[in-house]
Amino acid sequence: MDTYDVVIIGSGLGGLLCGYILSKEGMRVCVLEKNRQIGGSLQTFVRDKCIFDTGIHYIGGLAEGQNLYRYFSYFGLMDKLKLKRMDMNRFDVVGFDGDEQEYEFAQEYPNFIERLCRRFPREREAITEYARKIHQITTRFPLYHLEPESGTLMEEESLRIGTRDYLAALTSNVKLQNVLAGSNMLYAGEGDKTPLYVHALINNTYIESSWKCVDGGSQIARLLARSIRAQGGKILRYKEAVKLRADHGQLCAVETADGDYIAGKYFISNIHPERTLELLNGCKYIRKAYRTRISSLENTISIFSLHLVFKPGTFPYLNYNYYHHKYPDVWRLPHYDKQDWPIGYALFVPASSKSDEYAEGMNVMAYMRYEEVEKWAHTQNIVSKEADRGEDYEAFKTYYAERMLDELEKKFPGIRQCIKSYYTSTPLSYRDYIGTVDGNMYGIKKDYKAPFKSFIKTRTRVPNLLFTGQNLHMHGVLGVTVGAVITCSELLGHLYLIDKIRRAS
Ligand SMILES: Cc1cc2nc3c(=O)[nH]c(=O)nc-3n(C[C@H](O)[C@H](O)[C@H](O)COP(=O)(O)OP(=O)(O)OC[C@H]3O[C@@H](n4cnc5c(N)ncnc54)[C@H](O)[C@@H]3O)c2cc1C
Repeated sequence: MDTYDVVIIGSGLGGLLCGYILSKEGMRVCVLEKNRQIGGSLQTFVRDKCIFDTGIHYIGGLAEGQNLYRYFSYFGLMDKLKLKRMDMNRFDVVGFDGDEQEYEFAQEYPNFIERLCRRFPREREAITEYARKIHQITTRFPLYHLEPESGTLMEEESLRIGTRDYLAALTSNVKLQNVLAGSNMLYAGEGDKTPLYVHALINNTYIESSWKCVDGGSQIARLLARSIRAQGGKILRYKEAVKLRADHGQLCAVETADGDYIAGKYFISNIHPERTLELLNGCKYIRKAYRTRISSLENTISIFSLHLVFKPGTFPYLNYNYYHHKYPDVWRLPHYDKQDWPIGYALFVPASSKSDEYAEGMNVMAYMRYEEVEKWAHTQNIVSKEADRGEDYEAFKTYYAERMLDELEKKFPGIRQCIKSYYTSTPLSYRDYIGTVDGNMYGIKKDYKAPFKSFIKTRTRVPNLLFTGQNLHMHGVLGVTVGAVITCSELLGHLYLIDKIRRAS
């Protein structure tokens, strides 16, 4: 049996980035992926020739010299990615029922401030202070700016401030408070939980610069996989890890669903920590208290996604995203009432190499709690293992799709006439394609009232098992990239790795 230096479970962004870093450093790496398609949330799918993203609609920080640009340069991506810069004056637009006005987020801080001041002329001071504050918070996270970790995070006040509370203290203008948090689906925001640093790290990156991947985000996974292979690494698809085997206090191999054993010296889990612990059932190195803590952590909410394919030349391409709220209070979204669904949605138009003028499709997402689909939880549906969830499930999806379309008609009258076909995904689709317990969007929830409870350490109790991926530090392309660097630093040395990345960018 071959023994790899590092076996990585899961080919999500975090797994692939670790695979890239470690194989570049000469380690023998093997990435195991349970699905046919690699990439986790980077996966795309095609319907009626239209490419849809599942979990990457836009990326920030990719202008020359910016943080993700520098990281992606090290990963050999920047000269190969097909990107489209979003509208400089409105990459995100926030709207509300009963309010004709659209509220725009513009790229680059001076422009961001000016555009918002046009809508809120008396709030210049608050808007300027907001911009200063969220940018300043990002500087407290050195790795976001490719600076070595300084160990000051524990004292960071933004860990203990709630986003909603901060905005309420910033201005008495309630509309402005809600507009500034209007894209809170980006981090599954909850008024009594979401820390300010989460809001700041996400919003800052898009304000700096916002980009769409042309023809889908799966290109990131494909390019990384190509480099991993060129650097001598292996990526095995249809290899679902079902057990982690230990011997003499260390892990020694991953057992896969097809009965294979993949031996390694180190193991990196790119899957949800709760799922990782299931692979370690019976392992004496994992204490009961640790299991209890991990299983007690709450996950972020899931979503229902509607994917529309348009008749050619009927619906204009939108070079921005749109976040709609039925009620003035944007923090109400996760607490929707089923009868009232959807009380808000996020809308993304994929960028296609075929046309700049017309949209090929559209993706509209609204929160959906896992409990709504629990009735079909016993069914599993992925490309290689298709299960018919039954007629009532199909009826359920159609019912919610039609409700979503009714809402869309209010914003885009006539949109129904542009639709050639539509497809849906539910929390079960996300559960099955990503391998989470409940189809959650962004992994473990963060809570400013207990900031360290949800922090998962990269190192586990098992000396040769590490974690990576969105559950560790932050979700999103930038968060997971920083997380992969932290994971690999454990094996390569922090300063050594940061220096390599800085030199390459
Ligand atoms: C709907 C949605 C929209 C989003 N939009 C954006 C966006 O616009 N911009 C942005 O920056 N971020 C966005 N995100 C977040 C971002 O996509 C994720 O944070 C990131 O891709 C997660 O990467 P990860 O490394 O944690 O891996 P994951 O994507 O969680 O992948 C894990 C991988 O492990 C595999 N796996 C699971 N179990 C096993 C097993 N037992 N054996 C082998 N393999 C296994 C899975 O199949 C999967 O490939 C979005 C997420 C969602 C859900």
